[in-house]
Parts: sequence; structure tokens; C-alpha cells
Amino acid sequence: MKVTFIGLGQMGKPMASNILKGGHAVSVFDINQDAVNELVGLGATTNPDLTQVAKDSDIVVTMLPNGALVKQTLENGIFNHVKPNTLFIDMSTIHPLESDNLRKVANDLGYRFIDAPVGRTSDHAIAGNLLILAGGETADIEYAMPIFDCMGETLNIGGAGKGIRIKIINNYMSIALNALSAETMAMAEQLGLTFDEVMPVFDGTPAGKGHFHTTWTNKVLKDDLSPTFMVDLAHKDLGIAIELANQIGTTLPMGAMAREMYNLAKINGHGRHDWTAILTQYRDMAKK
Ligand code: NAD
Repeated sequence: MKVTFIGLGQMGKPMASNILKGGHAVSVFDINQDAVNELVGLGATTNPDLTQVAKDSDIVVTMLPNGALVKQTLENGIFNHVKPNTLFIDMSTIHPLESDNLRKVANDLGYRFIDAPVGRTSDHAIAGNLLILAGGETADIEYAMPIFDCMGETLNIGGAGKGIRIKIINNYMSIALNALSAETMAMAEQLGLTFDEVMPVFDGTPAGKGHFHTTWTNKVLKDDLSPTFMVDLAHKDLGIAIELANQIGTTLPMGAMAREMYNLAKINGHGRHDWTAILTQYRDMAKK
């Protein structure tokens, strides 16, 4: 397989190098000449002219910092200078609507397009065990599997644009949870609790296990809002935690917002429903 790889940063450099190690012919491009030289040293080819670098390729991969750069690189550099039916794979994390637009332009020109952002970090890129979230035609994803297998494990998410959508959604939850976790831990420490004392408790509750696999499965996801633990009580407990935080000199901004969401659920008649009705509350707001 002939592959062009554009964007040789923290992620792209090891990804391209693993494709080379997999025995594929790789041509590379980056505005950073040192990164290009490093890959050429490992056996890649290059061309200083962006319009020429992908002209013989079967697959063109982009791994760039943002959507504007992917658009600029493809629309002003690569498109119209490659073979018909070339498969484009954007592995960058970009806005899903930018990704949709790029797919449309590519398809209109007679090219194939997959959105395939990655989960995990540059350490996983080096080790070749990224989590690739592929969105597109299944036949195109299968065509790309020899390349994907060099970089990690692949999930076929189920259709064009779904890879980049799930990437953004997954990052949203991971990043927001990081803040909630930090907020919680800072309060625990303020109360004289160590991480080692907190963890055995969290390991046995939704705090540590997460709600998707615990509280939601048999309740809100089955449209059963009969209470195991009521919204009213969850709202009261959040109130105690926030009041306590204020008294001991720490702050719970995420908790305060969450309490208002439980408050809204109460206002909307969910007070005596199961606390998983918080999903119902959010779904109802999303519909408005
Ligand atoms: P990076 O900044 O290390 O690398 C970006 C590379 O793109 C650089 O080598 C830069 O020189 C090159 N570049 C910039 N403009 C260019 C252009 N016009 N033409 C050619 N090359 C150009 O970033 P990264 O950490 O490798 O991230 C790349 C993408 O992967 C981003 O979209 C990021 O959100 C995503 N991502 C990163 C991680 C991570 O842990 N670092 C994890 C998952 C996803």
C-alpha cells in the first residue's frame, strides 16, 4: 500500500513510523523539516512540493492540529493532485461539521473519505496501540485496515462522521470528569482524607465505577424511574457537600452547577424519581 502521511508531530511521527515498520511505502510532509528528515532517515520518501507528495498514493492520512489546517492542506494542496478514488483518512481531532464539509468536497471530487480520530496519547502512538475511531463506509475502513493495524486497534463506529463525533463526545466527558474528580479530591484532602482512604470507597460506588455501567443500566435506560435513590435526596446531599465546602475553605463549582440541574429536575416533577432521571431532564432540555 502506498501511503502519504501529513503532520509529523507528537502523534503523527510515531504513527507514520509504525506504518513504515509495517512494510508500507510512506511519503511524508510537514512544515517542520526536522520531522520530515527523521522519517526519511527511517525509509520514508518526501517531496517539498505539497501538491506532488501524494500523487502516487492509495491512501492519504492527515494528522494536523486543527480543522483549518486540514482544510487548507487538502483543498489547497492535495485535492486534484492525486489518483481518482484515493482514500483520505483524517485522523486529527477537528470540529465534526468541518469534517463533514471536507468529506463532501472529497466525495464531489471522486475521492473516498474516512474520519478516524484516535483515542489515547502519544505514548500509545509510539507503542502502536492507539484506539482508532473510524467513521465511514465499512468497505473503506476495511481497505484501510492494513494501515490502521500498524497504529493500533480500530473500532468501526458505524457510519460517515461518527468517528469524529464520538471522539469529541468522549473527550468532553473525560475532560469534564477530570475537573469533577479534581474538585472532589481537593475537598477530600481538605477534610483530612487521603487518596488511599478515598479509593476503596469510590471503587464500590458509582463515584468510582461511573454511572453508565451501574445506576443507568436498569433504571433510566429501561425507562424505569421508580426510585432506588431519589432526585430529592441527591439534591439534598449535594447541598450538604456545597455548604460544607464553603465552611472548610474549598469550592465545588461543578457540584454547584450539578445541584442546580437536580433542582431543575425537581421543578420538573422528578423529585421523587430515581436520580438517573437526571438524564431525562437533560434529554428534555436538548429537545427544546
Ligand atoms: P503536534 O502539534 O505535535 O503536531 C502537529 C504537526 O503538524 C507538527 O509537526 C506541525 O509541524 C505540523 N503542521 C502544522 N501545520 C502544518 C501544515 N500546514 N502542513 C503540514 N504540517 C503541518 O500535535 P499532535 O499532538 O501530534 O496532535 C495532532 C492531532 O492529533 C491533533 O488534532 C490532536 O488534537 C490529535 N490528538 C492528539 C493526542 C495527543 O495526545 N497529543 C491524542 C489524540 C489526538
